[in-house]
Amino acid sequence: MGNTTKIIIAVVLFVVAGVLFIKFQSGGETSRLADGAKETWVFVCTDCGEHFEMSREEGVAALEAAPVRENPNKPGGQQTRASLRRQVLPKLIACQKCGTEAAVRAKKCEDGAYVPMIKPDGTKGECP
Ligand SMILES: [Zn+2]
Repeated sequence: MGNTTKIIIAVVLFVVAGVLFIKFQSGGETSRLADGAKETWVFVCTDCGEHFEMSREEGVAALEAAPVRENPNKPGGQQTRASLRRQVLPKLIACQKCGTEAAVRAKKCEDGAYVPMIKPDGTKGECP
């Protein structure tokens, strides 16, 4: 095997290793996001106004354990996807600060405040 061939093989191996490394890295990123191990959910209490975090797993479990809340003012008429979504109100989970079952999932606003994604009455939460 000549020196040139060795160099070519070395370069090819190097490139393949680099591609595999990048694939491995991005693959790892995707699966991490998919299993949500590192994802935290923020909840905001609509009673005391405090917010708290829990892992996605804990959040899902807490929401599953919470009772379904039927919307007493569910929209009538034509059933659209939006109106079907509003047949039920967002589930309320126990607040980690005051213990009241009044916490809903929250989003963070630009000013750092947390507002409910969907308010307990089923309307969309808006940043101030
Ligand atoms: Zn609270």
